[in-house]
Amino acid sequence: MDEKKGPPLEMIFGNYISWKLDEKTWIISFMEGTEYIYLLEGGERTLLLDTGYGFGHLRAFVEKLTDKPVVVANTHFHPDHAAGNAEWEEVLVSPGWTVDAPAMEGGRYPKDPTAQRYPDYKKTVVHDGDVIELGGRSVRVLEALPAHCNSSLFFVDEGHKMFFAGDEFESAQTLLYDNSCNPDAPYHVEKRIGNLRANALRVREIVGEGWYLLPNHNGTPISLAYLDDYIALTDAVFAGTAVIEDKLNHRFIEMDPKAPELCRVRCGACSIFIKKKEILKIYGTKKG
Ligand SMILES: [Zn+2]
Repeated sequence: MDEKKGPPLEMIFGNYISWKLDEKTWIISFMEGTEYIYLLEGGERTLLLDTGYGFGHLRAFVEKLTDKPVVVANTHFHPDHAAGNAEWEEVLVSPGWTVDAPAMEGGRYPKDPTAQRYPDYKKTVVHDGDVIELGGRSVRVLEALPAHCNSSLFFVDEGHKMFFAGDEFESAQTLLYDNSCNPDAPYHVEKRIGNLRANALRVREIVGEGWYLLPNHNGTPISLAYLDDYIALTDAVFAGTAVIEDKLNHRFIEMDPKAPELCRVRCGACSIFIKKKEILKIYGTKKG
């Protein structure tokens, strides 16, 4: 290891560890413990939610955990969730994947060429209400309204009381600025904040006592109370009572060229990263 540069990317992006959430569900962690991939085993098939950055050999790692055929799906089409897709022949994606596809290009995230076995892998679009049958275990797909991005899917496992939230609800912060790298992608700040609220209300209708809320970064599972805090945050933005902080306190996002334009907006235990110029357009506009 080079002491000055820190650990090589391979070690950060491609070093997987796993543990069981229950007998048939694994959390696979990478990015030094800050990011997660989920593996849900049924009687006939196993569902893999996300494929990471494409570093290391996730497929070999997964095949040590399960001997069932693996169905692969993306929570959304961002490079830290979908850049490893090409290790598999087919991946289930959201209808919005094409809008966020430019975020996967540009070589910002070099991938391990030995892991790209199927560079032309098949993308199969799934829709709200579709059910992935794993054999004695069913996982329902929900299409999230665009808040973190344009391509988020939620996955609901009612039998195991598990709600997989992707990057739409995090304990640390949810990223709400445009990260599609697509100049044609729609971005309207009032709509984004409204969608965050609508998504939280929809999740709230589904989850309850004993449910696991499972995001993909910075801690999992997290309290369902975060959903209430996100709803409160959207109200506090319009009321002008949410706290706006210029300091991000996030070592990866601070490396992003967009970082100087971003701020953290906080309410209760939750917060969002968003462009300050954007949030000020609606901040305090609906004072009661
Ligand atoms: Zn994301």
